[in-house]
Amino acid sequence: MVDVSDLVEFQRHLDGAHHIAITSHRSPDADAVGTSLALARYLRSTGKEVTCLLPDAPDEALDWMPGVEDIVLFDRDPGKAQEALHRADVLFALDYNGMGRLGAMADAARTATGAWLMVDHHMGPEEFPAAKVHDDRCSSTAELLYGVIAGLGGRDAVDPTSASLLYAGMMTDTGSFRFRSVSSETHRVIAEMMDRGLDHTSVHEAIFGEQPMDRMKLHAFAVVERMEVYPEFQTAFIHLTAEDMEQFRYRAGYTEGLVNKALGVAGVKVAVFAKQSSDRVKMSFRSVGQYSVRDFAEKHFDGGGHHNAAGGASKEPIGVVMARLRGLLPEISAGILAAEQDEVE
Ligand code: 5GP
Ligand code: MN
Repeated sequence: MVDVSDLVEFQRHLDGAHHIAITSHRSPDADAVGTSLALARYLRSTGKEVTCLLPDAPDEALDWMPGVEDIVLFDRDPGKAQEALHRADVLFALDYNGMGRLGAMADAARTATGAWLMVDHHMGPEEFPAAKVHDDRCSSTAELLYGVIAGLGGRDAVDPTSASLLYAGMMTDTGSFRFRSVSSETHRVIAEMMDRGLDHTSVHEAIFGEQPMDRMKLHAFAVVERMEVYPEFQTAFIHLTAEDMEQFRYRAGYTEGLVNKALGVAGVKVAVFAKQSSDRVKMSFRSVGQYSVRDFAEKHFDGGGHHNAAGGASKEPIGVVMARLRGLLPEISAGILAAEQDEVE
């Protein structure tokens, strides 16, 4: 829920601002991109000059989002990004809780002199913002941002286009409204947006409706050839090497959702997906129930996130990472049992 005193602070900073920069995290997902574009549309409707910035490109599945082509990408155009960061009187940090999540854009962002305003739902936010709307029980930044825009008097600016951008973030961050984080407020926000013309079907179609054949084959290959299921530890892994991804002409977003295939195996409570990228191995962790993959990611792979959905990375080769994960199976399984024990007591 959004606190009125935080909104008063937001308004105070916005009143004197002309140039606004909106930033979100690296490997941006629908919540990151959807909130950036929806906030930009609202702020422009109040006469502000707005630039959206991301460390790297969103995946192609988000190409349908109106305005996505105008986002400045730090890895492609660092000069332009730097200039926008420095010109901004106010900078928004959307859907991330610490500068480290900006990757290569972090150093440039740290030198910005404007006031930072954060809207986020990840646990343990850093202290850099001048003001923040933060709720780690909220299921998406999009849900929070709707409250911010409405609270600032901008409900009418949430037209069907902005509604579809916010709905995309809400839908994907909740696993299509499946996770425990979904609340009656989530559905109230959607109800309000539907009253204003939200076409929810077209958002589902745009994100899940169809996919490139290469992506479908990569998923099939990953499940058949690269999934390891350890029933005695209630855990499953999927990993992809650089060669695997090359074989299926990997593009950004192709591996989205793969971790859920591992989690979907009967009896599996913890799933890990690991893939080799240019400079590191990136991991996605998922759990069902009380076991915290956030704690696991933090402890072993310099990561974080949410209780049931977290991420992390390693500079080790993928073979070494997988061997390390296999070695951690007893710890994971003991953790699952302990967490379930806690729940019963
Ligand atoms: P995903 O597996 O979808 O990339 O990420 C799941 C969740 O974990 C997201 O909420 C994301 O913000 C968080 N996350 C992913 N990677 C990292 C990471 O390297 N560090 C931290 N702190 N959080 C991460
Ligand atoms: Mn999010």
